[in-house]
Amino acid sequence: MNPRFSTQWPTEAQWQRGLMEWLNQQDRPCWLSWPGRDPGRHRVVVTLLHGNEPSGLKALWSMMPNPPDCAVTTHFCIANVDAARLEGGFVHRCRPGRADLNRCFGRAGVGPEYELAAAIEERIRALAPEAVVDLHNTSGSGPSFAVTIADTPEHTALAGRFTERMLHTRVRLGALMELSLPGCPVITIECGGAMDPASDEVARAGLVRFLSDDPLLLEDKGAWPLDRLKDPIRVQLAPGRAIGYGNGAIADHDLVLPPYIERMNFGWLDAGTPLGWLGPLGLKALRVSDGIGRPEVGALFYADEGLLRLRSPSKLFMITTNPRIALSDCLFYMVTAQPEAASRASD
Ligand SMILES: [Zn+2]
Repeated sequence: MNPRFSTQWPTEAQWQRGLMEWLNQQDRPCWLSWPGRDPGRHRVVVTLLHGNEPSGLKALWSMMPNPPDCAVTTHFCIANVDAARLEGGFVHRCRPGRADLNRCFGRAGVGPEYELAAAIEERIRALAPEAVVDLHNTSGSGPSFAVTIADTPEHTALAGRFTERMLHTRVRLGALMELSLPGCPVITIECGGAMDPASDEVARAGLVRFLSDDPLLLEDKGAWPLDRLKDPIRVQLAPGRAIGYGNGAIADHDLVLPPYIERMNFGWLDAGTPLGWLGPLGLKALRVSDGIGRPEVGALFYADEGLLRLRSPSKLFMITTNPRIALSDCLFYMVTAQPEAASRASD
């Protein structure tokens, strides 16, 4: 095993003293394994690529005293220990000033995050697992969902083990799930908001199914139907623009979103719904992409006396009210009820 990883499970005494104390003692990312009924097959769970997204690790921690009956040998990568333990724990997505680890997969780059991403990929390839799931939390409050780069029966089956929503995206950012290959589906699960207790339960219940179900990659017909959202559009502010949160326009801010905007996560919103207050640049402060070259900002939104409004019925998700994440990652993702119309319009 690559010495950059620890392979030591917490002792019973460490477990009794709690997750945070154990995390503080770790000087490296961890690769931990549980044996399965079929030792010749492998599954991989990655979590804590983002240091402030603890649901996957908390779920694993809660299972340690009584591990479930694993169908196959199952490996757990606890990745960004370095960022997670800063400032009392689970505060920082990545170490300040350093690259976002979940933007470094399959990408050339220099620095410890790129090296760690490459080491994680190498270990996954060496194991040749039948499936990989990467557990995250959203920055804002909201329900769980899966994100995939392919809409195959295998990806669907995996998503359905954890959640009832699946986003199929063609945006490529350097995320772990982009390592998905035929024969080895990799999916992201956003368990819900990092602060929502329900998210820990989503991770725990999903992990139990992921660990014990066999076969894993056949759709569970008894499970809930998946709500599929295709080609979500990533909405960002243009570089150098300013975001604020409040109940009206703020001078020198290009966009102000209301503090309750997280409540809009995943509900259908009518055409004309106001989302926030634009600055003097108006819609020009926004950038949108869906990974396939469309659409235009003006096809999705319009400005109306300083208000940013939806042009057609839309669903928003991954909305954050953390300005640092809103600026460095994105404001939110969206799908529209008439995606074809959105792609044709260009006003
Ligand atoms: Zn994340």
